[in-house]
Amino acid sequence: MLFSVASSLMAQQTFNELEYSPQQTTFTLNAPSSARPVVKLFNAAGDKKPAHTLEMKAVGKDRWQVTVRKDLKGRYYAFNIGGKRGDVRQDTPGVFAKAVGVNGQRGAIIELPPFVEEEARLPQLESPADLIIYELHHRDFSIDPSSALPERVRGKYLALAEPKSIAHLKALGVNAVHILPSFDYASVDETRLDEPQYNWGYDPVNYNVPEGSYSTDPYDPECRIQEFRQMVAALHKAGIRVILDVVYNHTFDIEGSNFHKTYPGYYYRYNADGSPSNGSGCGNETASEKDLMRQFMIESMRWWVDTYHIDGFRVDLMGIHDIETMNQIKAALPEDIFIYGEGWSAGACAYPQKQLAMKANTRQLNGIAAFSDEMRDALRGPFSDDTKGAFLAGLPGNEESIKFGIVGAVDHPQVDMSQVNYSKASWVNDPTQMISYVSCHDDMCLTDRLRASIQDIQEDELIRLDLLAQTAVLTSQGVPFLLSGEEMLRDKKGVHNSYNSPDSINRLDWDNLRRYPHVFGYYANLIALRKAHPAFRMATAERVKDNLRFLPVSQPCLIAWQLNGKAVGDSWDDIIVVLNGNREDACVDIPQGAWTIVLDNGVVRPEGLGSIQDGKAIVKAQSALILKK
Ligand code: CA
Repeated sequence: MLFSVASSLMAQQTFNELEYSPQQTTFTLNAPSSARPVVKLFNAAGDKKPAHTLEMKAVGKDRWQVTVRKDLKGRYYAFNIGGKRGDVRQDTPGVFAKAVGVNGQRGAIIELPPFVEEEARLPQLESPADLIIYELHHRDFSIDPSSALPERVRGKYLALAEPKSIAHLKALGVNAVHILPSFDYASVDETRLDEPQYNWGYDPVNYNVPEGSYSTDPYDPECRIQEFRQMVAALHKAGIRVILDVVYNHTFDIEGSNFHKTYPGYYYRYNADGSPSNGSGCGNETASEKDLMRQFMIESMRWWVDTYHIDGFRVDLMGIHDIETMNQIKAALPEDIFIYGEGWSAGACAYPQKQLAMKANTRQLNGIAAFSDEMRDALRGPFSDDTKGAFLAGLPGNEESIKFGIVGAVDHPQVDMSQVNYSKASWVNDPTQMISYVSCHDDMCLTDRLRASIQDIQEDELIRLDLLAQTAVLTSQGVPFLLSGEEMLRDKKGVHNSYNSPDSINRLDWDNLRRYPHVFGYYANLIALRKAHPAFRMATAERVKDNLRFLPVSQPCLIAWQLNGKAVGDSWDDIIVVLNGNREDACVDIPQGAWTIVLDNGVVRPEGLGSIQDGKAIVKAQSALILKK
């Protein structure tokens, strides 16, 4: 039922390449006026020869169409356009296939299955400040036998629909799952799933179809759609939002891309000499500022929201896209769809820097957030060198960058911007425009980074610092973000860029939950604390400026701040947080009065662990302290 609504919406749109009904099917393609495209119809996915070839007719500028008046359900199709004389014509499912066969080579003509009942939308998100985002790769999360999930669902969408998985996420307390690329990508061969293959999936093929290798049957075009929806439904039922990692900034290559096969040269940016610009570091970059590319991104994200009930997007290398496009996307989606991205590119873009959705330009992006590398690197050390530590290694000089992250990147009179590592000015309008994190799928995970940057680190020290790092993340006014498995002290055996490393590197070892129950417990309790106390997520710059003040401290690697809970409706009148990166205990002078200790040295207990009456708070080495009044 709902699909017919989405379908009639799509009818108004530029990229509705296939409109199916039992009576007729209309194919539409945006292709150059010289293209003379045809549609090839195949009876079966694997057929080499088409059963029919249909010429498309021009129906407007650079637009082609053909209608077949019979029921084509179950058939497969490919577009094929002419290029310059001598070019080889290449088959493509188009740029907006909604269903495909194995490896996404051909479009599939199906009737999208109806929504399942419990897949209803979640209540409107009041503020992104309330999100606790958990970033995962399907295979990392569930491929290992230690997950104790049925073998059939390991590494698949369905793993996230399993009660055991849901119970874990609920116990941890996260309320949004960010899934690494789950659109159809190229680097895993869906015909060889019996062999071990691993990839993060940042090489899009069909942007609007779920990836086949995460389904239980990539040959059945309906299967991946159905199972993706089952996953979303199960997560929604548990109150967990689903955020999709989207990669519009580049394609695997230009020549083989569906963009190029339908409209050669159009969708990319080129240098003055005609060579492709390489802002993505992958040999090409798309041109969001061009009408069709912009419209494609808008319609693609709407498709995921309308058809799969996706709740948010993480935009890969968002700094490659132009600001105007990002704002048009935001405006085209329901208000509570949360969008955040990497506010940088991987190389120089062939577009004016000022007009790109770079981190420094986040204030011009309406409600769209960016990752803060300031706090991340001030905690763990710089991106450029895994062996260098920072605050967690007890090194001075990172305090102002961490404070910048604690206030959620807003303009705050007590943050000395001249001392902040990467930014010399606030780049957000509100703290909800900053993603607060210490690790993600990129780079080393936290335990590996601690081992690489702190010589001879022992396990007890590593755990103390791990908990300290996430305390900074989860008490920041930005939107907190955790890499999956950090809560069970995952490692990647020291591998930094594990994008195609085997499962043995990337997989979560669920037995770690039994080895380190204390780590999981701390994460869960800290998340619960954040959720219970609005003072940790004030959501607006004004509130943060008015109600967060840093306390004076007498030594480096020590940060203390006080939150006015009363002013923001918190059940606690006042809260003090102290982070101590030193290898010795430290003392902070706190305002007089009776303070209750609620978090100390790796233990969280909201009802109280003791009290402080004399204005002197002792915070243990390499740990955090939280007090309430
Ligand atoms: Ca694929």
